[in-house]
Amino acid sequence: MNSLKTACVHAGTLFDEKTRGVNSPIYTSTSFAYLDLEEAVYPRYFNIPNTEAVGEKIAALEQAESGMVFSSGMAAITSVLFAFLRQGDHAIFQTGLYGGTFHFVTSELERFGIEYDITKNNEPSTFEKLIKKNTRLIYIETPSNPLLKITDIKAIVNLARSNGLVSVIDNTFASRINQVPHHLGIDIVTHSATKYLGGHGDICAGAAVSGKEHMLKIRDMARSLGGSLNAQTVYLLERSIKTLALRVEQQNRNAQYLAEKLSTHPSIVRVYYPGLKDHPEHDIARSQMSGFGGMLSFEIKDLDPVAVQRKLKLIRPSVSLGGVDTIICSPALTSHRHLSPLEKQQEGISDNLLRLSVGIEDADDLLADIEQAL
Ligand SMILES: *Cc1c(COP(=O)(O)O)cnc(C)c1O
Repeated sequence: MNSLKTACVHAGTLFDEKTRGVNSPIYTSTSFAYLDLEEAVYPRYFNIPNTEAVGEKIAALEQAESGMVFSSGMAAITSVLFAFLRQGDHAIFQTGLYGGTFHFVTSELERFGIEYDITKNNEPSTFEKLIKKNTRLIYIETPSNPLLKITDIKAIVNLARSNGLVSVIDNTFASRINQVPHHLGIDIVTHSATKYLGGHGDICAGAAVSGKEHMLKIRDMARSLGGSLNAQTVYLLERSIKTLALRVEQQNRNAQYLAEKLSTHPSIVRVYYPGLKDHPEHDIARSQMSGFGGMLSFEIKDLDPVAVQRKLKLIRPSVSLGGVDTIICSPALTSHRHLSPLEKQQEGISDNLLRLSVGIEDADDLLADIEQAL
């Protein structure tokens, strides 16, 4: 199944032997007969039929040998990190990590005797300088939240390979439709499936894909940590992925249109979107992404950002992202609210920054809504 759109619809679908219906049946049991089986089947073992089917679907999309679905993006990320890091190891994380990942890294790793560095910028040479004898893993996230900075995936792959490191990417923002990091050589790809894979703002889920050997380790750790997803939600995720390509393509178009229009608006100082020619890493983005995604941020001038959000009629001020509904948030009041004023300044998160998760509505309706609010 080579075509992406076809794989979105068909890959991994379970055959319904009872009715010959076209959709995967949902297997709800937590108790399965064990005689004659090599391995017991149990939801927390991540091996019930629906979990395995969607894991296979996601692996097919990402051109990887294996895939797993989790109860959240953080369940996937923590399972991956604990699968490969042990006492005495060192890991390198890029700057601009998703808030939950940043919190996990900075508050938990040390307790387990794991050393880490967070880079000051996303230049490959910055990562290289931080590699030590005990470095085991390198972790990136591109495009980053909320300023849509781009990390050069191939350069990180080369660095990881030449130093024998496990490479991990959080591919949530781009989604598989715009970026295929495993194909570029990244060992392990994680997703918050709560975002684009789920796509409707109504399920919380996660995913990871990798080669078979890496996945055996991830799965072993995941079974201990227990972040499995119930069959009903796994089914909703399967249903969502069928329209992933259509949704994301429309989101790409809408975001590009809005980014270009908003760039010329007198009340907007700056737009952050990798699809804009003046984005500092536009060329790297072009070389590794087939679309620039549905996320963009912009800074407004001389206006109260809260008042602007309240004036919006169609676009709702809400957290999370990646759904069919366009939503807006202030990073300074949400994901980055725990940072000190100095830290916010260093990270480039001003109070006037607004982040838009662009949905699949008509782009001109979205533009009109923003214009009337400004
Ligand atoms: C939301 C998000 C996560 C965490 O996912 P959950 O499903 O909320 O656990 C991780 N990375 C990125 C980039 C995210 O946006």
